[in-house]
Amino acid sequence: MQRIMVTGGAGFLGSHLCERLLALGHEVLCVDNYFTGRKGNITHLMRNPRFEALRHDITLPLQVEVDQIYNLACPASPIHYQFDPVQTIKTCVHGAINVLDLARRTKARILQASTSEVYGDPSVHPQSESYWGNVNPIGLRSCYDEGKRCAESLFFSYHRQYGVDIRVPRIFNTYGPRMHEHDGRVISNFIVQALQGNPITVYGTGNQTRSFCYVDDTVDGLIALMSDEVRPPGPVNLGNPQEYTIRELAERIIALCHSSSRLTMAPLPHDDPQQRKPNVEQARQLIGWHPAIDLDTGLSRTISDFRKRLVTCDEALALSEP
Ligand code: NAD
Ligand code: UDP
Repeated sequence: MQRIMVTGGAGFLGSHLCERLLALGHEVLCVDNYFTGRKGNITHLMRNPRFEALRHDITLPLQVEVDQIYNLACPASPIHYQFDPVQTIKTCVHGAINVLDLARRTKARILQASTSEVYGDPSVHPQSESYWGNVNPIGLRSCYDEGKRCAESLFFSYHRQYGVDIRVPRIFNTYGPRMHEHDGRVISNFIVQALQGNPITVYGTGNQTRSFCYVDDTVDGLIALMSDEVRPPGPVNLGNPQEYTIRELAERIIALCHSSSRLTMAPLPHDDPQQRKPNVEQARQLIGWHPAIDLDTGLSRTISDFRKRLVTCDEALALSEP
């Protein structure tokens, strides 16, 4: 049994990670400032005596005794990380320094939830870890992209300078139950719109691509990457290499929701990456990891979670299971 701290543990990905670490028999300390996370994501864990939740902002130092740290604290959706860009940068940079100092003092192994956004709008396709990226350093997305790039730089500097034991997964778009229904991300938006019979808002031409990984697969990869036997030489891509255009995604969601919604076109946000698909060969070789859940299975599970949550809304009361 390890004492494991999960920052951002009340968020979408963090709550699934906390749940899985508890199931593996560990003690879990969830640290969150509830900016985008919700107590509702972790209430089912509260009865477990090995689980503890602490309200704390990681831009401030924290003194606790731990064996492992997963640093997930950071808003992940464009509307949330652009709401207060300076705070996003502070969370990425000051937050990384604080958790790395903690790891250095306690000799804890530490994982940084990095992102495919470090590749920006990539000119290399698919993206391998050796690609340095194409990021606009002053654009609207830069608070997140450059914040995460700086965090990676800090992690590798602490490793080289102080010998801190680090793991840096670059997580590609992950989805699943408990995604925030108003976070503006494409899967949550499309599911809510389809379930409510509203127009599906496709930005730009809809020909831009993304690769969507189901949350259970991502959590498997994060935990495998933290194991004793693994010595990653650098960052490791975690994502599903199946690539879809946004228009294809919209059509699948409409079909799976048995919805009558139609597509409506809206302007493409600034610096929106045109294509994204991970090369996950390194994860396969290093930890034998490959995503197991296909898009239709993952979407069906996610849709049924949204259905349950939306049923409390007036608009959705009329909806019934197909
Ligand atoms: P989320 O917004 O649901 O979760 C982030 C959590 O961090 C929230 O609970 C939020 O309250 C908390 N938080 C934010 N700032 C904080 C601060 N200063 N101090 C303490 N807590 C803070 O997002 P998510 O999708 O669960 O993403 C989790 C992590 O994974 C993020 O670091 C994100 O960058 C990374 N990631 C996610 C995806 C994805 O597709 N979901 C892709 C790549 C990387
Ligand atoms: N997108 C869209 N309609 C929406 C929300 C997003 O067409 O209602 C597009 C967005 O422009 C982008 C893709 O879907 O091209 C993925 O967007 P998301 O915000 O989920 O993730 P990210 O851009 O950070 O990968």
